[in-house]
Amino acid sequence: MAIAIAIASGKGGTGKTTISANLAVALAKFGKKVAVLDADIAMANLELIMGLEGKPITLNDVLAGKADIKDAIYEGPEGVLVIPAGVSLEKFRRAKPEKLEEVLKVIHDLVEILIIDCPAGIGKETLIAISSADGLIVVVNPEISSISDALKIIAITKRLGTDIIGAIVNRVSNESTELGVKAIETILEVPVIGVVPEDPHVRKAAAFGTPLVIMYPDSPAAQAIMEIAAKLVGAK
Ligand code: ADP
Ligand code: MG
Repeated sequence: MAIAIAIASGKGGTGKTTISANLAVALAKFGKKVAVLDADIAMANLELIMGLEGKPITLNDVLAGKADIKDAIYEGPEGVLVIPAGVSLEKFRRAKPEKLEEVLKVIHDLVEILIIDCPAGIGKETLIAISSADGLIVVVNPEISSISDALKIIAITKRLGTDIIGAIVNRVSNESTELGVKAIETILEVPVIGVVPEDPHVRKAAAFGTPLVIMYPDSPAAQAIMEIAAKLVGAK
């Protein structure tokens, strides 16, 4: 059965897009048919990490009623289907987020696993993504402001009736000021399904427009993401 997973965090810059892109590729490496959609329609950057920037038809055209969703799906690394949102401000202004639910249904039917990269905050796109998804993965950094925003996302997810798969703690460098995994689990009351270290390879891969798990598969962050993918595949 196909499963849609929303990747959200509340706070900006926690690594949602990095995790979405690389988890999608990692799951494809395990033989799954995967799609990843950029629901951050205002600040789209999934396409940059996936090496697919500048595509003529994007999700924002579809949400504006100007294009068919089938024309906004592109094949990326490892055969992952990528639905970019596009960087044009003009197209973003015309996009109607209400149409997102319908779009998600169409893509859900095409793959085994759909990853939805949510924007920061709890705006319309995030709410639609979480309520349409089968499960939520919340991405946190080991600091209190991130945990507090994640609590809001978790509360909303419960209210919307969507399952919570767990939390991924990203950018861990084991400094003494960081919150530990056990403390994070206690505060969030959800399982931590992966810990991704702070790793300079993440930025290097992004600069090249190639997913980390392809460009630097042996890097600590790539290995951590592959482990999460293995767990998700094994769990189903
Ligand atoms: P979000 O989508 O939550 O806003 P991004 O995935 O765009 O976050 O990541 C924000 C920034 O942090 C990017 O510059 C990215 O390269 C960097 N980053 C994310 N995860 C890591 C990591 N594990 N190690 C180092 N840099 C990271
Ligand atoms: Mg992002």
